[in-house]
Amino acid sequence: MMRPAHDLVLRNAQIYDGAGGAPYPGDVALTGDRITAVGVRGTIAPGSGEREQDLGGLLAVAPGFIDAHTHDDRIVLDAPDMLPKISQGVTSVVVGNCGISLAPVTFGDSPPPPMNLLGDASAYEFPNFAAYAAAISRAVPAVNIAALIGHSALRLATMRDIGEKASPNEIAAMQAHADEAMAHGAIGLSSGLFYPTNAAADIDEVTRVAGRFAQHGGVYATHMRDEFEHVLDSIDETVTTATAAGIPLVISHHKCAGVHNWGRTLQTLPKIEAAASHHPVNVDVYPYAAGSTNLRADLVTDTYRIMIAWSRPHPEMEARDLVDIAGEWEVDIHEAARRLQPAGAIYFQMDEADVRRVMSSKLAMIGSDGLPHDQHPHPRLWGTFPRVIGHYARDQKLFPIETAIHKMTGLPAKVFKLEGRGRIEAGAYADLVVFNPATILDQATYDQPLRRSIGIEQVYVNGRLSFTASAGVVARAGQLIGGRN
Ligand code: ZN
Repeated sequence: MMRPAHDLVLRNAQIYDGAGGAPYPGDVALTGDRITAVGVRGTIAPGSGEREQDLGGLLAVAPGFIDAHTHDDRIVLDAPDMLPKISQGVTSVVVGNCGISLAPVTFGDSPPPPMNLLGDASAYEFPNFAAYAAAISRAVPAVNIAALIGHSALRLATMRDIGEKASPNEIAAMQAHADEAMAHGAIGLSSGLFYPTNAAADIDEVTRVAGRFAQHGGVYATHMRDEFEHVLDSIDETVTTATAAGIPLVISHHKCAGVHNWGRTLQTLPKIEAAASHHPVNVDVYPYAAGSTNLRADLVTDTYRIMIAWSRPHPEMEARDLVDIAGEWEVDIHEAARRLQPAGAIYFQMDEADVRRVMSSKLAMIGSDGLPHDQHPHPRLWGTFPRVIGHYARDQKLFPIETAIHKMTGLPAKVFKLEGRGRIEAGAYADLVVFNPATILDQATYDQPLRRSIGIEQVYVNGRLSFTASAGVVARAGQLIGGRN
């Protein structure tokens, strides 16, 4: 008897191609780690799969979602099941954002903020990228990983005084790290000029470092210097830097933060789109009007709500509002914030209309920016992707579901040069999500952030069934992707 042509055929599905095309009824076949055939119903011969599964006509098949912006650098090693992400249909995560990456830096003492968002000194054990890549191979996380190298990590690894601009020798040392990282499969550079570990770098320093990543085909993602009053200046700085370095640009978690800036995406998006007409520029965005990072004195204000995500000295205050803590302690919010340090917070600092406007931009990819080590994390960690599809596309009709899917599949695959990902077509990697378009929705909230999304039925990573709604994580088949991989 002849061997069947395919390992598995998923029949009778609504197929989203990842390129933004409308869904169509059809079948998808896989063999090994690849999609081997795809077509409208009836084009894949009956019985040609060793196993066949009828999805009943109502379930959808889409490329596995790519989380364009994460801080999953350490959690992929420590909790490789990656349940918060794979339960959303995510099959690949981009790590190393906002200037923060595990490689190539180590610490004898506590890592300074924001590096402490990934853990304490014991989390940082990779003096070069090859060591981090080897750790990923050993851990075999449930999702694929594409890794950026953080400019703060480079600065802390090479500089005598990070309060200054890097010297020519220090820049050369960072460029040598760029060569090593890109040779071992990194995909580019990130910066976090907003943060004290990165802020002293000027356009010249960033351009020289980014330029070396560009020589290796890298991309550049940046948490800009200012997302508040000076956001337009920051966009100018960012575009100038990327253009001079000759490197494709991603503006991270684009927002206009602070009540005085609400509505200003009407100015920022046209500026970004104008830049995109002569240079590769994209943005990532999460579908919430609150952000989250370290608890910082300069972000403490009574003009928006602030919720505590974690506190080293006062874990009992997690999940509570800063204003209530201050009231209980009978101090002002600034003193309360000081006593909670080191800590993380959720800032309700954005306007919903701005969030919708950014998400709707054709340049926008979906990135969760989830913080997996926080005790009471922002709900974006568990809810981002089903929320964009179920809440914003299906229920609010902000854009069609196929557009939502494109923003989390084909578009990030192209921007981050993830060859063979983000599309349903013969020859592509079999990273697939089977979901119910009628029920898919986030369940995580600010009060209950650890609730699993609904409507994700099955997730395949590199051809392996890795998650089901009933059994949870059933296999781990992720690998380092992008770059030289
Ligand atoms: Zn950031």
